[in-house]
Amino acid sequence: MDGINNNYTRAFTITIVNKSIILSEKDKEELAKYAEAEKPYESCAILVGNETDENWTVKEIVLTENTTKSEVMFTISPDKEFEVDQKAKESNMEIVCIFHSHPESEAQPSETDKKFMRVNPFPWIIYSGKTKEMNCFILQDENVKQISII
Ligand SMILES: [Zn+2]
Repeated sequence: MDGINNNYTRAFTITIVNKSIILSEKDKEELAKYAEAEKPYESCAILVGNETDENWTVKEIVLTENTTKSEVMFTISPDKEFEVDQKAKESNMEIVCIFHSHPESEAQPSETDKKFMRVNPFPWIIYSGKTKEMNCFILQDENVKQISII
């Protein structure tokens, strides 16, 4: 598993998906900064770009409000998601990823996350305010699989 972030404690077995997500350093920094600023609440964002057979490329990030204002949960309003999706399509893009942060826990999907990953079959990026790590996951065949962020 060379080149993959092995620097975190695995709570469950994770298969690495043979497809990466491309996120610029600038976007990573902006997402981390937003997550830190929104503490103690979870923060969230919608990442827009394109998907090919090899990867997902993030071209734009849309910082969204966590309407739940919770330390352990997040909600993006469906209206906002619809609006972002419409705008993306106008520019020949699509929603490629959902971002959210865990202010005080690891960058791994919670049970609640897994439930929502089932209905939002995008890659999910999770940033940990505790370890400052950013990991990406997707739920496939009821299993959480990791996607490398490059
Ligand atoms: Zn979560």
